[in-house]
Amino acid sequence: MSARSRVDDDDEKVIAMKPKQLQSELQDLRTFSNPKQNLEQYATTPLLATKLLQVASVEFNDIEEKSVIDLGVGTGVLAIGAKLMGAGHVLGIDVDADALEECKENLEMYDPELEVELCLMDVVELIRRYDYDEDEDEDEDEDEAVSVKRKDYVWPRADTVLTNPPFGTRRKGADVAFLAAAMKMAETAVYSFHKTSTREYIEKVAVKKLGAKSAKVVAEMKYGLKNQYGHHRKDEVEVFVDVWRIEPSSSKAKKDDDDDEKDEMFEQNLRDLAANIEELQLSARQRKDKERNKNSRKNSDNRKKW
Ligand code: SAH
Repeated sequence: MSARSRVDDDDEKVIAMKPKQLQSELQDLRTFSNPKQNLEQYATTPLLATKLLQVASVEFNDIEEKSVIDLGVGTGVLAIGAKLMGAGHVLGIDVDADALEECKENLEMYDPELEVELCLMDVVELIRRYDYDEDEDEDEDEDEAVSVKRKDYVWPRADTVLTNPPFGTRRKGADVAFLAAAMKMAETAVYSFHKTSTREYIEKVAVKKLGAKSAKVVAEMKYGLKNQYGHHRKDEVEVFVDVWRIEPSSSKAKKDDDDDEKDEMFEQNLRDLAANIEELQLSARQRKDKERNKNSRKNSDNRKKW
């Protein structure tokens, strides 16, 4: 693939691609060779990615010459699409080093190689830790205290954040944590995919819980999920998804008192969210311990038989 085809020879200005051409470029990218179910790794289809990028670029001017973060970049379809549409600096974040490796291979398929910065980061964990109340831990031993004092965690920032987040079916709360992180990172807008069936819930989370200035569905699509994990009965399941455009409260627009109130609400809700996730992790740990006890009991039963 040639990234050069996008460049005007006279002034080296990047020319945004037409949707059909973009879609066919994205078709050639590799997707997860070994998708991890616990991370809900589903690649966005080229059609869906093109739709999101086209709306973001043409209707809202949120891509061309803008800095972009792809949150949960996976093998990179949204980041690469943004770059091909003329984005400025693009950063891809993922918790999975294997996915980042495959994303890098996709970037290298271009000549010259597409420039997308990649970063290994667990955004769910970071949201959980963010803004932990320092005072409570004063008596803790030093290492512990340092690890929880993340009050002013410096999030990477970009004009636009794109994400096809985990839907939160494997790690509960991951969808909300992704949205919270995306809103921390976006100056202007977050674009995110969510199941149409969760429309009311997403609006409530974005506006009421996370204090978004606005949250709108800007496109509706069908998403053909391939049976890559074997737990679906059919080969492909059709899921209806919405493309959301969410404006964070701390966007470039001038703040007023109302916004300050929303900021406060946002911080409080993040603390609630952190507590929720902690609880969930605790119960997961308890489940694991139970399982372990059961197994060790089984083992000792087996030993008795010997
Ligand atoms: N953006 C890609 C992949 C979407 S699948 C695409 O559109 O095709 C969701 C992605 O989120 C996966 O790559 C998964 O590894 C990543 N992910 C899941 N949990 C994460 C976490 N806690 N922190 C960062 N990335 C995470």
